[in-house]
Amino acid sequence: MWIPGISSIEIRVEAAAVEMTAAVYNYMANQVNYQKQLDAVITEHQKKGETPTVVLHSCCAPCSSYCLLYLTEGFRIIDLYYNPNIYPEEENQKRADELKRLIEAYGSQGRLKHDVAFVEGKYDSGRFYELVKGLEHLPEGDERCKVCFRMRLTEAALLAKEMGADYFATTLTISPLKNASVINTIGNAIAEETGVRYLPTDFKKKDGYLKSCILSKEYGLYRQDYCGCVFSKRDREAEYTK
Ligand code: SF4
Repeated sequence: MWIPGISSIEIRVEAAAVEMTAAVYNYMANQVNYQKQLDAVITEHQKKGETPTVVLHSCCAPCSSYCLLYLTEGFRIIDLYYNPNIYPEEENQKRADELKRLIEAYGSQGRLKHDVAFVEGKYDSGRFYELVKGLEHLPEGDERCKVCFRMRLTEAALLAKEMGADYFATTLTISPLKNASVINTIGNAIAEETGVRYLPTDFKKKDGYLKSCILSKEYGLYRQDYCGCVFSKRDREAEYTK
């Protein structure tokens, strides 16, 4: 799904701005507990007897396994698989199919308290390569990843807007390799631009990552050994040959 109204240049400029903001957030990292912020939002809605809808950007089935079970307690979920950064295309389809299988399994076992709909986004990989031009050499966790996060979260925000959902969020914060402060800073910036509320998360808290590993084993989920793009694949393969 292409995003109208937001250009590649805007995304790159915003990513640079996020770096500065994230530096401040990193300084405050121990003071900002995004998991607590999420729980406060859930409690507030529960007190009012509300079940809001969230568009959850999902990167893969293993990461989504825990996030879906956590969020279904308080939200209706529109699960968006949109990851044109993934290389190659067959890998992207494999991850999408595995996520769909997981949601269907959860549904048939009655593990989802509220509705979960699955949406598969377009594999517009050309867009990813255009956005990260000049950043190909960087290691995972650097500038390229901020652009990649922004591309995917923006898609979730725009889908939320289109579908009238209350929030957008991402499963990306569950990864121990990803900086939750950076991801949440990007999410908040997109919320300001689009007018859609961002749901803060840090899914790795409360042993979220460990629980996702247990769920992955329980459901026999395919777990990839590289983040997703051709550059992360290159770096992982180089590690293997050391
Ligand atoms: S390493 Fe992962 S987060 Fe970073 S650009 Fe590649 S796919 Fe995106």
